[in-house]
Amino acid sequence: MPKSKSVIVGIAAFPLNTFTSDTIVNRVSSRLRAEALNATELLCLSNVLGRPRGGLPGYPSQERANIIGDQLQEFHVSIHGPYTISLTTIEKDKLRTSRAHMTRCLHVADAVGATHVTFHPGSRQGGRIVQTRVRDRLKEFMIKIDDEGLLAVPAPEVAGKIASFGNFDETCMVAGEAGCLFCWDFAHDFARGGDVTTEGGILRRLELIEKHIDLSRWRLPVHLSGIIAGRRGEVQHAPLDGGNHVPWQLFLSVLKEQQFLKKVSIICESKSEEQNNLDFRVEQALQLKTFIESKRIEKEYHTTRPALTQFFSSNSTKDSDEDSLPRLG
Ligand SMILES: [Zn+2]
Repeated sequence: MPKSKSVIVGIAAFPLNTFTSDTIVNRVSSRLRAEALNATELLCLSNVLGRPRGGLPGYPSQERANIIGDQLQEFHVSIHGPYTISLTTIEKDKLRTSRAHMTRCLHVADAVGATHVTFHPGSRQGGRIVQTRVRDRLKEFMIKIDDEGLLAVPAPEVAGKIASFGNFDETCMVAGEAGCLFCWDFAHDFARGGDVTTEGGILRRLELIEKHIDLSRWRLPVHLSGIIAGRRGEVQHAPLDGGNHVPWQLFLSVLKEQQFLKKVSIICESKSEEQNNLDFRVEQALQLKTFIESKRIEKEYHTTRPALTQFFSSNSTKDSDEDSLPRLG
């Protein structure tokens, strides 16, 4: 893994499951190599436990995952866990399945040499208690990881929908207290009304990361893309300059000025209605890389589109992530 490289940028590459062929792995890895992109997130989004069924794929065997990992050795690799995982649930069956998926993902992640398993923590059930619940469940995984000597760790993702757990502060805090990573999906943070349109708002987040996450051990995973957002937060991902105009240039400028690029790994998650092929995803990631490598610095967020904050200004659905949340006891 290119841990010593100062900038790590890549794309969500391909589904990682029972059907992942050497052809797709080779096609993606040679393309990334040719474009000097050095990171990739492998997607276990719709994998089922056990044998493939109902048209849905299963997880690759440890052996197969090892082989795929060998082919991706030079890249910074991560896994995206299935959407069925929920660490917020109060349903026993759902929790059992979620634990089984996460355990499977952690093993597969280890076998491919991935640093972490990104996943969506789940819907917000039970108010503030949900934060404690997610933290405690993450701690259980960390104990398992320790017992089994695994290297990959969970990375709950900052959610884009306001009805989902959690906002930047909550997610950063639960990860810090459990001793794992979290994934800062910058577009999600923006879509739920987080203060990422000002330099101050972004700087405040960098301080929280430094405070809660062990950056001497890991880079913080970042997802970056355009996004379409509405009153309830994320609607869908979009190209970088599409949707509601995510302030990605301002964000990258702050990372540059704060020497923070060497502390993160960036996966570009842009999506387009028309084309989501490899060419599009690579082109979007290269747009980030070009900006990073340029001398350009943007100190302010400029947009001609209606400000997202209008949705959050006067009602109780505002994502009050600048309020000081109680520290978990
Ligand atoms: Zn994401």
